Amino acid sequence: MATTGQKLIFRFEEGDASMRDLLGGKGANLCEMARMGLPVPPGFVITTEACRQYYAAGRQLPGELWPSVQAQLSWLESATGKQFGGGDNPLLVSVRSGAKFSMPGMMDTVLNLGLNDVTASALARLTGDERFALDAFRRFIQLYSKVVLRLEAAHFEELLDTAKQDAGVTSDSQLRSEVLRKLIASYRDLVLKQTGRSFPTDPWEQLEAAIAAVFASWSNRRAIDYRAHEGIPDDLGTAVSIVSMVFGNLGEDSGTGVVFSRNPATGEPGLYGEYLANAQGEDVVAGIRTPLKVADLRVRMPAIYDQLNSLAQRLEEHYRDAQDIEFTVERGSLYILQTRNAKRTASAAVRIAVDLTEEGRIDRTTALDRVRPQDVAQLLVPMFEDEDLAGARSDGRLIARGLGAAPGGATGLAVFDADRAVQLAEMGRHVVLVRPETDPDDVHGILRAEGVLTARGGITSHAAVVTRGLGKPCIVGCEMLVVDPSARRMSAGKTVVREGDPISIDGASGEVFLGELKRATLDLTQNTALEQFLSWADNARTLGVYANADNPNDAAAAVSMGAEGIGLCRTEHMFFQTDRLPQVHEMLLSAPETSRLENAAEAEALEGDARSAQDALAASPIARRFREALARLEEFQTDDFRGILRAMGERPVIIRLLDAPLHEFLPDYEQLLVEAVTLRATGADSNRLDVVERQLKETADLQESNPMLGHRGCRLGISYPDVYEMQVRAVLRAACDLADDGLATNPEIMIPLVSDVAELKFLHPRLDAAAKAVLAERGRDIRYLFGTMIETPRAALTAGALAGEAEFFSFGSNDLTQMTFGYSRDDAEGKFLNYYLHRGILAKNPFSELDREGVGRLVRLAVDEGRRRRPGMSLGVCGEHGGDPSSIAFCHEAGLDYVSCSPFRLPIARLAAAQAALGLVSSAD
Ligand code: ADP
Ligand code: MG
Ligand code: MG
Repeated sequence: MATTGQKLIFRFEEGDASMRDLLGGKGANLCEMARMGLPVPPGFVITTEACRQYYAAGRQLPGELWPSVQAQLSWLESATGKQFGGGDNPLLVSVRSGAKFSMPGMMDTVLNLGLNDVTASALARLTGDERFALDAFRRFIQLYSKVVLRLEAAHFEELLDTAKQDAGVTSDSQLRSEVLRKLIASYRDLVLKQTGRSFPTDPWEQLEAAIAAVFASWSNRRAIDYRAHEGIPDDLGTAVSIVSMVFGNLGEDSGTGVVFSRNPATGEPGLYGEYLANAQGEDVVAGIRTPLKVADLRVRMPAIYDQLNSLAQRLEEHYRDAQDIEFTVERGSLYILQTRNAKRTASAAVRIAVDLTEEGRIDRTTALDRVRPQDVAQLLVPMFEDEDLAGARSDGRLIARGLGAAPGGATGLAVFDADRAVQLAEMGRHVVLVRPETDPDDVHGILRAEGVLTARGGITSHAAVVTRGLGKPCIVGCEMLVVDPSARRMSAGKTVVREGDPISIDGASGEVFLGELKRATLDLTQNTALEQFLSWADNARTLGVYANADNPNDAAAAVSMGAEGIGLCRTEHMFFQTDRLPQVHEMLLSAPETSRLENAAEAEALEGDARSAQDALAASPIARRFREALARLEEFQTDDFRGILRAMGERPVIIRLLDAPLHEFLPDYEQLLVEAVTLRATGADSNRLDVVERQLKETADLQESNPMLGHRGCRLGISYPDVYEMQVRAVLRAACDLADDGLATNPEIMIPLVSDVAELKFLHPRLDAAAKAVLAERGRDIRYLFGTMIETPRAALTAGALAGEAEFFSFGSNDLTQMTFGYSRDDAEGKFLNYYLHRGILAKNPFSELDREGVGRLVRLAVDEGRRRRPGMSLGVCGEHGGDPSSIAFCHEAGLDYVSCSPFRLPIARLAAAQAALGLVSSAD
């Protein structure tokens, strides 16, 4: 490591805000404020480079550092007119940590350094306030012992508490000199006992040890954990700011506080913060005494308030963002000790960005850069009311804590399996689904639950991913819970929750409560700042935003969230509704035999006159069941499509024909078996037994060993074309019905899971004929399109040929990712993916963030070839990636026309698309 020539110390006048790398955020901003002429106590900054050298040398201060510290300190003495370690006017300093990225409360700071008996007496004489000098000394020993000597803080707290009790006072500011003197003596005894050495009286020794301790605090446990969580590199190191002390504990005309230039919770303009009279910095945070609202300063110290207000304005103007400012008042003089861009809630972020723009301080591009797309999601899920939450916590109703996987508050009856969830939901009850973990078989329950709680799993687990997509609150990895679905109960310690007991989950904090909690009301249109903000995003973006919606309610929600179309309407989701499932079962179970009969009849008809196969088809009860089920489902689907098309008006609606692995629709084999055995044993209902026996056999015939890669998508549509034809008729009938009402619509029909153009060539003419037949029958001319999903690698690789048949493409990025990697998602996320991520074998979960090198390459290739073959064809991505900011940036770069995501993610997509268009997100991260 280069140790020569590097300047390791900068006086405040020598640095500026751009030097965060070297001076840390705190140090760089102190420099900047000093340059601006703000009342900052004089000081200097030891660089992060010195910290790196400290670690490189095995935790030794760099040799050339100490002489420079001494030199700077003598400069500081002359700048302040004070003397370090002696004299009539002793210089005290703070030794403060501060890294490039803010790590609030993670590292250490020492105040009042330079005190010993001699300087304490001098300070007492100088200020005429012995009590103050002793208070400062007491504080110094306490903090130094904790931070530098690493003694247990609790011992000192105990001594302080005892002293207060003995003196009969509640606040440390009420302790008189004699008491403080005794307290200091007992602190020193404690130090001697614990370390075998007296408390250091030499200020230079104190200083050197404090600098080393602050460097060392870069590597304490909580700092390391925090960095891991925030993705901050471990090798940056911290800077150390040495600042001459100003005193807020010099009586009632002194004090300390923290102020925000705007409310960080709501974004409301105006000073917001807290102030504590006769106190030092750390007291506000420590919560020892209840501070005043900063607004009260206006009455108590109007001049200070005005000055603070105008400094806050100035800082905000200068940094062009809301500031979080530490200040101290010493005998009526105001000092600023820190400023930084304020951390804020998502709703404050939006409000502040909009207000600053309207005040002319920043432009719209900057405003759009100030809010992270994923944070916008926080604004769209209702949270519990703060009061109710606090009440539940203090009533002891908080029973467990897990990982907050999807934010929002959900209250409902606890249920322990998906079927029960559906049953109760259909009876109009709100339920929270509790499972050891979830898998795709639980999806119908998840869809009907208010929220989901699982004992196992991480934040990429099935439950977490599914609920985030749905905008539903979810807690995962709640390992304190023992969930026993077979007994329909869970327990947390001694608390037992049975099916039907009300519980509440907070998917942001991960807290699980007994009983109900109230939710704050949410209304996007009430949030004028958000509406304004998103309208700027809409103006900036070029990428369209569509929604995935499977029913009229979701479609309406999508429109209100800004959807410009529906990119994916999954018809099979309508099949899951309980009134339809029996028809779906019958349709699928009778399809193989019907199709066998149909094929035989067709062959026979081609060959000649014998009519036995055709008669068999006509007489077959199975074929009749098939047709009846199909006819019923056609009614249902026409109804569904009418609702969705009506909600979307002239916006494009892409309807995907039946997909999803067969097994998800078949009756449950085990359940049938149990029913059959029971019926056989009891002889109760012989008709039902016949049905069950038949379904059992038919279900067994349809079992597949790898359903995800099995008989699904267009493969099913080719085996049983009647099913797809029925769906196409339903779409066009719905469109005709709406046209009869004078409503124009734009349905587009999408064929899933294609891997060869021959599949399209087989289906397209048949389906087109079905569509035309409806239009002819109704005497209407409605524009519709046929397109395909690109979700197998082979489809992407042969996109040029596919574009000959398909009028549009939609990339099914979930399946495309599964098949490109050869991962089955559920197995991957449950088994090895976390380990891969943990070990760095994969940098990102490719199911959350689209893999640019592999999957992305296929997408680009297909975009290219598709457009070449069919210029102007519409290209989009549906699937969860459509709601992920980085994937959206990719879609923008790849020249897609739109992304389609769940309605709840639309505002995220609108902002992310705008940021991509403005070049605000780099494609690298
Ligand atoms: P943190 O990063 O934990 O806020 P700081 O270094 O900012 O640590 O300091 C802790 C507290 O001490 C803050 O309230 C700060 O304003 C106060 N403080 C720091 N240096 C001085 C000083 N020279 N004079 C008075 N108060 C100070
Ligand atoms: Mg601070
Ligand atoms: Mg798919």
